[in-house]
Amino acid sequence: MSNRVIIQNAVKRYGDFTALNGVSLDIQEGEFFTLLGPSGCGKTTLLRMIAGFNSIEGGDFYFGEKRINDVPAHKRDIGMVFQNYAIFPHLTVRENVAYGLKARKMPAKEIKPKVDEALELVQISHLADRKPNELSGGQQQRVALARAFVIEPSVLLMDEPLSNLDAKLRVQMRSVIKKLQRRLGITTIYVTHDQEEALTLSDRIAVFNKGFIEQIGTPNEVYNHSQTEFVCNFIGDINRLNDDTVSALRAAGAEVDASKHNYIRLERLHVNVAPRSGEIALDGTVESCEYYGLYIKYYIHVGTQSLKVIEKNDGVNIYDPGQRVKVILNPNDIMAYAPSAEEVE
Ligand code: ATP
Repeated sequence: MSNRVIIQNAVKRYGDFTALNGVSLDIQEGEFFTLLGPSGCGKTTLLRMIAGFNSIEGGDFYFGEKRINDVPAHKRDIGMVFQNYAIFPHLTVRENVAYGLKARKMPAKEIKPKVDEALELVQISHLADRKPNELSGGQQQRVALARAFVIEPSVLLMDEPLSNLDAKLRVQMRSVIKKLQRRLGITTIYVTHDQEEALTLSDRIAVFNKGFIEQIGTPNEVYNHSQTEFVCNFIGDINRLNDDTVSALRAAGAEVDASKHNYIRLERLHVNVAPRSGEIALDGTVESCEYYGLYIKYYIHVGTQSLKVIEKNDGVNIYDPGQRVKVILNPNDIMAYAPSAEEVE
């Protein structure tokens, strides 16, 4: 049965160093929840505390109603998938997937249909008798996935499971993971430093920074309503408006608070469109452009700064370096953050 996971005030210390400083989370039954943040921010540390591989210096951990702080790892009823697959090299695919069921003393005749079904779900039935060294990275990761969920754990933990795969396979495996998780409804906690992966997979994301949570929210909340300057910089690409751009906007009648740090996302800027009510047009010159097919990214010199702009590629309105253009924006799309106390001093 899938479980709710509640963490209250988790503290983790390594000697004098505090890796987690009072982290609280409430993860719903069946939710796909991601711990996202830069390297060293404490994501893996927290995941290992949930798994029972790390000591807990403070706080309470619950699976449903049950406090698990003192429950040993093998009794927590979790499935785990790691970056390095961690499948047994001497066992076949089928034996790898059956391993957890055997360890739980399930009768052999019940194991076979369960393993068959798991192999089918991750689409590797045809590879059942191969050994791991006869598989590609993506196939090995499918074995690791099947092995984790075949035991029907109440919580599935995944630590950067796709980071060893090439870019294309990573995107393919994302949808395999998402479909499986939806279908099985297992509460899933997923660790990654890849913001795109977090945005595409998750129901909710906790953005970590140096042992703290900066924001918890849906992909849209953290992307479009970033609560902190760290989150707005970490998730997606963004323009920070410099003082001259802010002055130009204010001169044009926009309400922009010059005492704050002001940001705008790339797709919120537009080139050479007729401004609608409340929108402002700034004069600029195209410096360069990057052609991505689906969209085009422009670097446009406006005043004393270079603004990045993403436009859909309509195949008609394409601007060349050197061309004079208007950059249109709605001041309501600006995200503003008060400078931190240290910066004000
Ligand atoms: P990454 O994406 O690089 O794995 P992370 O966010 O998962 O990063 P953690 O592995 O949780 O980060 O580490 C958090 C902090 O705790 C880091 O500063 C790390 O150096 C430190 N740390 C982790 N494990 C230990 C340990 N066993 N002893 C001492 N310090 C540790």
